[in-house]
Amino acid sequence: MSDLNKLTLAEARDKLRAKDVTSVELTQACLSAIDAAGALNAFVHKTPEIALEQARAADARLAAGDAPAMCGLPVGIKDLFCTKGVPSQAASAILEGFKPEYESTVTSKLFDAGSVMLGKLNMDEFAMGSSNETSVYGNAVNPWRRGNDDTALTPGGSSGGSASAVAADLCLAATGTDTGGSIRQPCAFTGTVGIKPTYGRCSRWGIVAFASSLDQAGPMTKTVRDAAIMLEAMAGHDPKDSTSADLAVPNFEAMLTGDIKGKKIGIPKEYRLDGTPDEIVKLWDDGTAMLKDAGAEIVDISLPHTKYALPAYYVIAPAEASSNLARYDGVRYGHRTTLAAGDGITEMYEKTRAEGFGHEVQRRVMVGTYVLSAGFYDAYYNRARRVRALIKKDFDDVFAAGVDAILTPATPSAAFGLGEMNDEDPVKMYLNDVFTVTVNLAGLPGISVPTGVDAQGLPLGLQLIGRPWEEGDLLNTAYALEQAAGFVAKPGRWW
Ligand code: GLN
Repeated sequence: MSDLNKLTLAEARDKLRAKDVTSVELTQACLSAIDAAGALNAFVHKTPEIALEQARAADARLAAGDAPAMCGLPVGIKDLFCTKGVPSQAASAILEGFKPEYESTVTSKLFDAGSVMLGKLNMDEFAMGSSNETSVYGNAVNPWRRGNDDTALTPGGSSGGSASAVAADLCLAATGTDTGGSIRQPCAFTGTVGIKPTYGRCSRWGIVAFASSLDQAGPMTKTVRDAAIMLEAMAGHDPKDSTSADLAVPNFEAMLTGDIKGKKIGIPKEYRLDGTPDEIVKLWDDGTAMLKDAGAEIVDISLPHTKYALPAYYVIAPAEASSNLARYDGVRYGHRTTLAAGDGITEMYEKTRAEGFGHEVQRRVMVGTYVLSAGFYDAYYNRARRVRALIKKDFDDVFAAGVDAILTPATPSAAFGLGEMNDEDPVKMYLNDVFTVTVNLAGLPGISVPTGVDAQGLPLGLQLIGRPWEEGDLLNTAYALEQAAGFVAKPGRWW
């Protein structure tokens, strides 16, 4: 059978169990697709030997009738996850040569569930960015192109390699991480589905830390059903992460009934921003109508502190990053500078960090150090924390009033051209996160679902935000939206 790499997780799982295909065949189809897609720069470390060994083991389990949820399904792993013995560089020069001695909890869980790892995926350096352009490997490329020109487009960021790989059918699904939108924005830019779970649902252990109070791992997939399957395999309590929730993980797939009759969907007025393109406004209105037609009750809501979310995020995230990145000192991990005569330990730290960190990472470390400094701590960091509490309260109030989920655009535009935001004020790039950062600040689950295309045929996504720990309900609402939108477009193959 050809084109096995184009299957969804659910389709491949069913074919494996029916003995229509083997995991080795599926894996080989993906490995060939990856080899033919160098132009996308999505996979930055390929692991074909590991993949084929895992695929053979999965085939043996399938033959023995002992097939766990992801048995034999080939996936890609964002470079932010530590994978034992395999380069795990967070797309940074400072982690050049780093091969962890251990496996992240999320990847361990995926392997325990039978998944096959095809390799590591491109991303923004330390997950800081919205375009995958801060990567030491160079940017990943979006498989989609505008109908009217050949401009190379960003797949979004920071999980740009994951989004590009899933959209181009190089793998059946991928892991991502989301600190301020890094799963949802790239999924919206590539016509794929991505969920950021409730903070604490997936263990952060073994994931290179960016901003620890915001970081969450999640699946990036072709369909909502696949997101349900993969999230269940990734999630669960981990004593090695003190912020991991000791809660049972439901059978998310079983909750996909598509029935949302009587659900209350909130439409927040503060997300109607001036200057939002008409096609995004229309997409949002259309999505609202689809949920209404499916039987949901639509209510106007207010999240009054929304306008403070971006400034608060861009204080808190750099503050935590500056602290987390202090560990890259040239002693414990990766790159160390070549010392000149007379250099001491201070020069070693300074030169190592100047050589190892890219510009955006350096900017964040400087901003973070500044907002945490004694003279400015109250004015910036503490104020941002208070704003964060108010943003969370906005959501708590809306949910307490009976709202089940909130519908918003996922991004303020379709995928933009690579290089288009360079040399600009960095704040322009930061504005990409305007609809997504609130969800991280409040620790809530959020999912991006492709529901339409723009005038040039590029995919556009809507975001649904759910109650904490109710990913199952959120996935079901997303499933209803997916069914109603019927988004089936695929990028034309040019690579
Ligand atoms: N684009 C945001 C940032 O640059 C979010 C990144 C993320 O979610 N990892 O910080």
